[in-house]
Parts: sequence; structure tokens; C-alpha cells
Amino acid sequence: MAANNKNTKNQKPKFNPYWIYGAIIAIFLGMQLFSGSSFQEAKSTTPSQFMEFLKNGDVSKVEIVNRREAKVYLTPQAQEKEVHKASKPTSLIASSNNLPNYKFEFGDLQNFEDGIAEIVANYQLDPQPKVEYKTEQNLLGDFLIGLLPFIILIAVWIFIMRRMSSGGAGGAGGQIFNIGKSKAKLFDQNTDVKVSFKDVAGLEGAKEEVQEIVDFLKNPEKYTALGGKIPKGALLVGPPGTGKTLLAKAVAGEAKVPFFSLSGSDFVEMFVGVGASRVRDLFKQAKEKSPSIIFIDEIDAIGRARGKSNFSGSNDERENTLNQLLTEMDGFGTNTNVIVLAATNRADVLDKALMRAGRFDRQIFVDLPDIRERKEIFEVHLRPLKKAKNLDTDFLSKQTPGFSGADIANVCNEAALIAARNGKKAVDKQDFLDAVDRIIGGLEKKNKIITPEEKKAIAFHEAGHATVSWMLEHAAPLVKVTIVPRGRSLGAAWYLPEERLIVRPEQMLDEMCAALGGRAAEKVIFDKISTGALSDLEKVTKQARAMVTIYGLSDKVGNLTYYDSSGQNEYGFTKPYSEQTAELIDKEISDIIEVQYQRAIDLLTQHKDKLTELADVLLEKEVIFKDNLEKIFGKRPFEKEDVNDTQPVKTQENTLEEEE
Ligand code: ADP
Repeated sequence: MAANNKNTKNQKPKFNPYWIYGAIIAIFLGMQLFSGSSFQEAKSTTPSQFMEFLKNGDVSKVEIVNRREAKVYLTPQAQEKEVHKASKPTSLIASSNNLPNYKFEFGDLQNFEDGIAEIVANYQLDPQPKVEYKTEQNLLGDFLIGLLPFIILIAVWIFIMRRMSSGGAGGAGGQIFNIGKSKAKLFDQNTDVKVSFKDVAGLEGAKEEVQEIVDFLKNPEKYTALGGKIPKGALLVGPPGTGKTLLAKAVAGEAKVPFFSLSGSDFVEMFVGVGASRVRDLFKQAKEKSPSIIFIDEIDAIGRARGKSNFSGSNDERENTLNQLLTEMDGFGTNTNVIVLAATNRADVLDKALMRAGRFDRQIFVDLPDIRERKEIFEVHLRPLKKAKNLDTDFLSKQTPGFSGADIANVCNEAALIAARNGKKAVDKQDFLDAVDRIIGGLEKKNKIITPEEKKAIAFHEAGHATVSWMLEHAAPLVKVTIVPRGRSLGAAWYLPEERLIVRPEQMLDEMCAALGGRAAEKVIFDKISTGALSDLEKVTKQARAMVTIYGLSDKVGNLTYYDSSGQNEYGFTKPYSEQTAELIDKEISDIIEVQYQRAIDLLTQHKDKLTELADVLLEKEVIFKDNLEKIFGKRPFEKEDVNDTQPVKTQENTLEEEE
């Protein structure tokens, strides 16, 4: 079907803009020919030769054209002379007597006239040659030169128009008016969408909800018979890379109804009013094809809460677009069978009006996958890979806490690339581990130049983290420590954090203490500190500030939070607390950090020998694992059983930032 349509379209003779260029070139060529041919038969000569002819009495008439050029007519007798034979004009149009024999440019008119007068007087020519003045106009040429600016203008206009219309997908090309048309991509029976619900792993709840939406459209009677109304929209909310777009694609693949897909930013253009007009057009198209689904990705681009105090007015266009969207979603009745799906990872900034029932009635949360879902996602993405036989997906999903679906897809791909680089026949476990390291830490830089002294500092820094976190009850269990530079970090301690839902202050404090362990180790061993602790300090400061100002965990500041979940405080120039409170907050933050730093120093001073031992092992081996630590410290006192068998990996801190 689709192929046929295409063919018939192509066969129609279409107006081709190159014809215009062709016509213009033809006109120029024609002009050139006509102005050239019959009139320019006269032979060129020079002023001095002309004077000779004049003296000989050969000249009957001199015609001065445009005060610039002289055309010379010879007397009939002279025309017969041998010297002038070659100058005899021939023409198809005019008789040869009326045509000039010679022409030349004389330079200054006054001098030329004086020269003629002198010769006429001196040689007493009789009859005197006539001197005539004439203005010749190249009518066509002048006309065209007058037209040139218009031609250029029109050409530029055509060019701009074509550029603009080529930007808009879906519309017939060549019209500037397409700018207000929606840019949605349409998927229907004729387009081949290969994604199906099978490709979406995990996300059971979310999958069920969207499947139900597909069902609404296919069998609306089933629901309306009982008096129910079909929902108008569903909002997919969740962190990036968790499969929201994938889910929508699967809907397109399975629904078998027209599916309009576009991104929130597609509404935005530099012209005012375009966004609203595009929204109108989108809904018009969708209604024409109903039952249908509209999918708007990244809806926060237009759906952001409308500001209350809008100083600049620069957001008007976005607000108009949003208003139009709200109206359209209200406007179509329940029987139009158009359902709007939208995705965002910032549901908190969306306008409340957008989220109310009757617009996006349903919010579907698409969360980061848990260990079981990660396993399923691994299975989906391992399908196309040639993997080693004993590859254990349970193990892989344990390795990747906190990874999103997109991260897992990336790990699988990266592992295959690593295996290929090493010339392997199949992708094995080590490749996956390397891929995880690579994705978390960045590229290994084995040949980075580091002085032995720096290396020692890095080793002690990392050993400090390892030692402190080993000694503290709530610090995340350590997996490995490395001083191989990777990405922007010079060394790292990797942890497997517990997946906690609620965090208590002790846990936060222990983590901060472990993060400060690096700098503390430098201080204890060398009695010097360095810039290497930048990322640790950044993390710790943020955490301490959050404890005080967001979670209300500070005794002195109390059970207050200055957090605004509505995100509508964009233009707030003033802090929501007084100067005294600001001072108190600063003091609290600094106190929390100093106490933890001191705690790390005390711990490390107490275990200085073990710290040194660990750093030495680290310097020798570059990478050490939990077993090495156990050998030095003995069993970790606070080891929890369930974490014991989940071994690896999630970095908590990359330390010793490179200075740039
Ligand atoms: P977003 O939520 O940011 O829209 P996407 O849907 O674009 O994320 O996901 C990006 C990629 O991650 C997908 O193309 C897919 O390869 C992978 N992915 C994410 N979630 C899943 C999942 N649940 N099952 C399978 N693949 C997934």
C-alpha cells in the first residue's frame, strides 16, 4: 500500500524551481545575442588612424555615441579604397551604407572635437564631415539591471521558504505556512515499529497500566457500557533511562492505532504563537484519525509550572502553548477516543493544572529497577550478544545497584566491545565487570604520569577511606580499592551501598566520616593535606547542608525544612530564613563536618600501623579487594550477612580529583 502511494506521487510532473533559473539564463543569453549580432560589425580602430582617414577626406560622418565612442562613416569613394576594404560592413538587416565602418573610443570629448576642427580647418576639407551626437540605450539591459534586485529578493525568499518547510516533517514541502503545523511523527499500520511489550523488561505495574490504555481504545464499549469514562491521559514519571520512551514505543508497536509521537521541545519555535498553533494542529490530526494515541516526550519543556511573578515576560510563549494544551485536553469529549501519553523525569515542576484529573488522570511511576528487574533487563539486552555459557545474570544484576535500564543496555554493549577488543569469541563475566568499572569510573589511564610521591599520597588517601569505612558500623561495605587512574579521578574506593529507603543520622554521619577518611589519612601520615580531597569535601558539604536545611536533622536548627518540593520558587531572591538562622546553619554545617573529620583522624591515629600496611599493599598491587583488607584487619566487625554474598560494585566516591 505505502509503496504504491509513493509511486503515484513520484510520477506526477512537479513544478521544479530550477525552471526559473533556466528561464533567467535563457533571457540573458538571448539578450547577449541580439545586442551583439548585426550592429557591431564596425571595425575597431584608433584615434590617430581616424585622424589620418580624416586628413585623406575619407570620412563622411562621425557619430559620437554616449560622449564616449565615435562611429565613423566613410564616403562612398573611400569605401572602395583598398585600405578600407576590410571595414565594409555587411548585414542582413540594414543596407550597408547606413552602417559605420569604424568605431573607437576617443577619451576626452573636448580634445577630440578640437582635433577634428583643426584638421577640417587645416586641410580645408570639402564637404566637411558631419559630426553628430547620439545617445544609445540598451533598453533590455537597463530593464534587466533594474529588475536584478527583485530577482535576487525573490531568489532569497524562495531559498528561505524551502529551508523552512524542509524543517517540518510530515507537511507537503514548499510552504512557509507549515510552521504552525505539528511536527509529530505518525506511526500507524503502514509504519513498522519493531518494539513490543516483550522488549520492555520489568516494570510490571507500568506495563499493565499502558496495556489497559491500549485496551480502552480497542474496546471502548467494554468500559463505557458500565458508565465508566475512558481516561484522557497518562503521565509516565521516572528518572532518566528507566524505559519511559521504550514503553511508549511498545504501545505504538502494539496498539495498532495511529500513534503520534513528538517531544515537548517540538512545540517551541522562535516565533510567537507557533507552539499553540502546533498543539491545535496536533489534536486536530489526532481527532481525524481517532481512535489514536498522542505521545509527548519530555513534557516538562512546555508543561513547567506557570510562573507567578513573571518579570521578563519571556515565558509567555511557553505559557501560551501550555494553555492551549490544557484547553485541548479539556476540549475533546470522552467519546473522541484520543489518549495522551506523556513522559517526564521532572513531575515536580509540572503545572498543577496539567496533572489534575480529567487531563492526565493517571500517573504511572517508572522507577529505577530493583535486583529482580535488573536481571530481566539484562536478559533482554543479552539476547543479541554471543555470551559465554556460564554467564550468571543473577551475579550481573547484583553488580549493578542503582543502574537504570539504559545503563544496563550500555553495560551489555560495552562488555561486547571489550570482549571484541580482546579478541574473544564470546563475552564473559570479566568483560561485564570491566564494563561496569568503565561506566562508573571512566576510562583507565594506566600511562598517566604520576610521581612516586604523588602515588604514595594517593595510596594513603584511598587506604584512609578503606580503613575508616571498615571500622564504622554504618559505612557502606567496601568492595575494592584502586589507585589506577580512571577518568578524572586518580584513585577510588568502591562500595556496595545498601539500598535504603530511610536514612538515619548515624548512617549519614558514618558515611561522611568515611568520606573524610582520605584527607584524615594524609594529615595523620604526612601531617600535610592536599587538593586531592575536593570531591570528598564537596560531597560531605552537600550532605551536611542537606541534613541541616532539608531533613531537619540538626538539633540547634530544629525540625525545619527549607526545601520547596513544588519548585515554584524560581524567582526567590530572598532566603526563607533570617540572618541569625543563616549564621546558625553555617555553624551547624561546619560543626558536623569538623566532628566527623576529628573522628576519622582519631580512628586512623589509633590504627596507624594497619593503615600503613594497607597503603603498602595498595602501592604494590594497585588494586585490592575485600579479602586483602580482611587479611590485615580481620573480619569486619559489623558485617551483615545478607550483604556478604552480594559482592561488588558501586562507587561511592572518586577521590583525589585531578587538578586542571
Ligand atoms: P527514558 O525513561 O529516559 O525515556 P528510554 O526509554 O529512552 O528512557 O530508555 C533508554 C534505553 O534503555 C532503551 O532504549 C532501552 O534500551 C533501555 N531500557 C530502559 N529500560 C528498559 C527496560 N525496562 N527494559 C529493557 N530495556 C530498557
